[in-house]
Amino acid sequence: MKVLVANDDGIFSPGIRALALAMSEIADEVLMVAPDVEQSASGHAITVRHPLRYTATKLGNLPSNVSAFRVDGTPADCVVLGAHNSAKPDVVVSGINLGSNLGYDVTHSGTVAAAMEGTTMGIPSVAFSLRTGDAELDFSYAATFAKELIPVVAKRGLPARTLLNVNFPVGKPKAIHLARQSTHAWQDSVVKREDPNGQAYYWIAGTPTGSDEPDSDYLAVSQGFACITPLHLDMTHNSFFASLADYVPGVKH
Ligand code: MN
Repeated sequence: MKVLVANDDGIFSPGIRALALAMSEIADEVLMVAPDVEQSASGHAITVRHPLRYTATKLGNLPSNVSAFRVDGTPADCVVLGAHNSAKPDVVVSGINLGSNLGYDVTHSGTVAAAMEGTTMGIPSVAFSLRTGDAELDFSYAATFAKELIPVVAKRGLPARTLLNVNFPVGKPKAIHLARQSTHAWQDSVVKREDPNGQAYYWIAGTPTGSDEPDSDYLAVSQGFACITPLHLDMTHNSFFASLADYVPGVKH
């Protein structure tokens, strides 16, 4: 089995190292391909207007079945180039992200987008994220679960156009639950400041809205559970599709 490991935090993140090390125990070959600098919240962007470099990178203290490359592009670029520059991987994994990816986060997340890119290539793909808090980061629970999950995903595959989004809480999870994508979002706030030349600049920040929807990803992680959510790339709203011909005059079914 060959596993491509990507992320959005960058090739030097401790999260991708933890995931690659875990994969090295269960895979014949592990190919790490990640951005050279952090690309969190870059979503599913692909770089098409400037060239990209794909640079072999020595990270040190990695098993002999792990190789690493950095890309001066996005997480999705990393998956595209990783799959192009070598034999097609059997599985794409992304993470372990420093910070959870819950609710609408999945639409901004570069971590999830790397798994989406793998999915569009027909490769079973899984995103892993870890909620960060005051405690020291502990990737061990997510890494151990990845070692159990990925062989199953490789063997059984996933439904067409479907990826798995896995989130771990701070500390040891009480259990691992199935969960649905919640409506958790970020209440955007924009902070305007002035640079030394008197020109305005802006920070987009936000606070999490959270969600207490039952069976949801946000509730699970907030209550100390890990959770796993199947996401579908077909974003067609089927019930509205059926009534859209009535909604828009002149549109034919
Ligand atoms: Mn990130």
